Amino acid sequence: MKIFITKKEIKSYLSSLKEQNKSIGFVPTMGALHQGHLSLIKKAQQKNDLVVVSIFVNPTQFDKKEDLINYPKTIENDTKLLKSVSCDVLFLPSVKEIYADDISSKKFDFDGLEHQMEGKFREGHFDGVGTIVKTLFEIVKPNKAYFGQKDYQQLQIIKKMVKKNRLKVKVKGCPIFREQDGLAMSSRNARLTDAQRKAAPFIYKTLKKVRKKFGTENATIVTEWVENQFKKQPLLELEYFTIADKKTLEPIQKKESGKKYRAFIAVFAGKIRLIDNIQLKN
Ligand code: AMP
Repeated sequence: MKIFITKKEIKSYLSSLKEQNKSIGFVPTMGALHQGHLSLIKKAQQKNDLVVVSIFVNPTQFDKKEDLINYPKTIENDTKLLKSVSCDVLFLPSVKEIYADDISSKKFDFDGLEHQMEGKFREGHFDGVGTIVKTLFEIVKPNKAYFGQKDYQQLQIIKKMVKKNRLKVKVKGCPIFREQDGLAMSSRNARLTDAQRKAAPFIYKTLKKVRKKFGTENATIVTEWVENQFKKQPLLELEYFTIADKKTLEPIQKKESGKKYRAFIAVFAGKIRLIDNIQLKN
C-alpha cells in the first residue's frame, strides 16, 4: 500500500495511473476504521482498478471542539487493517496540508437538504463536509466515490454537490453495516462505556418497530411512540426522530402514495452522539 501525506505527491502518483486508463475508487473516511468502512472499500475494489482511502479528521465539520478533540485516532491499526484488505493507496494529509492557515469552510447551497436534521443540530456541519469532500475530490479525481447510508443525509448532500458543480465522479451509496446486535457500526462506538454499549442496540430495535408501525399508523403517532420509548431509557437521550421524504429530506406532512420515506434518529449516550436511519415501507 502506498501512503501519501502531501497533495502534490498523491496527485502526481494518481495522474500517472490515470494516463494508463486505470479507474479510481475513492473512500473518504475520518479513520478509526471498522467493518463498515471496510465494506465500502470492498465495494470500491469490485468496480475499480485501484482504491484510494483517505483518513482525515476534518476540523471544519465539527460543531463542538470537545467532539473533535475526543474523536478516536487509531492510525497504526487503521494502516494495518487497510493493508490486510489490500487497499492500494492511503492519503493521510495533515490539517495544514488541506487548509494551510485558514481552517474554515466554504458556504454551500444544497437546495435545502442542509437545513434538515443534522443541519439543524450541528451548525455549519454540512459546509464543513462539502468543503472537505470537494477538496478531496479535486485532489484524488476519482471515477467513483463510496459513502455509507449510515450518514444518509451526507450521502444525499454529496450527490447534490456533485450534480450542482457538474463534477465527473459517480457517487455510490452503500448499505449500513451493523454489529450482530443491530447497532450501526461507528468509530464513536469505541467510546461507549459497557453499560452504554449494552443500551445502544435499542436504537435500531426501535427503528425496526417504526418500520412496522408506519405501515398502519401516521407519522405523528409513530413519532410520539418513539419519544415515549426513549423516555424509559435512562442511558439514552433522544435528540431527534424524524420521518422524512427520502429524496428532499423534508419532514413528512401526510403520507402520499408514490413517495418513499425514511426514518432518521440521533441519540446521545452520555456525550457520545449516535445516528441511524431506516428505509420505510408505506
Ligand atoms: P466516517 O469515518 O465516520 O466519516 O465514515 C466514512 C464513511 O464510512 C462515510 O461514508 C460513512 O457513511 C461510512 N460509514 C461509517 N459507518 C458505516 C457503517 N456502519 N456502514 C456503512 N458505512 C459506514
